[in-house]
Amino acid sequence: MASLFAGPADLHLHSNHSDGTQPPAEVVRQAHAHGVRTVALTDHDRTTGWDEAAQAASALGMTFIPGMELSAKHEWRSVHVLGYLFDPDDAALRAETERIRDDRIGRAERIVRNIGRDYDLHWDDVLAQTAFDATVGRPHIADALIARGIVRDRTEAFDGILHPREGYYEPHYAPDPLTAVRLITGAGGVPIIAHPVTSGRDRMMPLSYIERLIDAGLGGFEVDHRENTEEGKRLLRKIAATHDLIVTGSSDYHGAGKPNVPGENTTADEMVARLIAAASGSEPRYP
Ligand code: AMP
Ligand code: FE
Ligand code: FE
Ligand code: ZN
Repeated sequence: MASLFAGPADLHLHSNHSDGTQPPAEVVRQAHAHGVRTVALTDHDRTTGWDEAAQAASALGMTFIPGMELSAKHEWRSVHVLGYLFDPDDAALRAETERIRDDRIGRAERIVRNIGRDYDLHWDDVLAQTAFDATVGRPHIADALIARGIVRDRTEAFDGILHPREGYYEPHYAPDPLTAVRLITGAGGVPIIAHPVTSGRDRMMPLSYIERLIDAGLGGFEVDHRENTEEGKRLLRKIAATHDLIVTGSSDYHGAGKPNVPGENTTADEMVARLIAAASGSEPRYP
């Protein structure tokens, strides 16, 4: 297939506009250094990094796909819905992401207050780890715990203090996945469920609910992701084939915040082409 985009595609990366540790341009440069040539920036619940990332991509002769990772919740499960090539000015989607981001702030303050009962940790410590106006999350609290010398890295923080079983956890507002899918398609974008089959009891949404998402316009699944189980990947490929859906593979790079490396998983050219063809909300930026 002749294509406008050139080479390995990594469609899931985070900058310091959410919980990555690097500015958007640096994220794109890192992706390029790892051989990626088509890149999407998918910060949690915001699109403010797009312009900087697009410019950096263009300077490096890369294709840029605008994206976002929208927070959702199914019963007790946190579900992440990647949205690609939607209209960033869509009023309904903007209102919802604003609501999520606002609620995340109060929620992070509550978590810090809970932790502060047992450890020397204060809200200012978290602010010191958060780039101006970034979507705040547990990773920023983890960074504050590291700065205080309470844990060594984010992994240790998530396995310990930040894990719900430790009792400091608080939830934040998020729409259900059906609403998330409709918001993204309503803005002309393509919704893809991020890392749908991570290990752990009942972590995957029931198949009957996934079928409702497909009926509502779900575009596909992020199959190749380091946190998906092998058994889960096989199941997802089967569902995708049955319903003729898109399958993607990506790194979920967070800079120094996670061991994930750009390009460790990639998306086939054919799937990138389908993603672009299915979208109407915004344009990819070609080199
Ligand atoms: P939150 O949305 O605030 O509950 O935080 C969830 C975020 O934390 C996810 O987007 C991940 O990027 C990050 N995260 C989850 N587990 C880990 C981990 N073990 N190490 C580093 N980051 C993690
Ligand atoms: Fe994250
Ligand atoms: Fe995610
Ligand atoms: Zn992610």
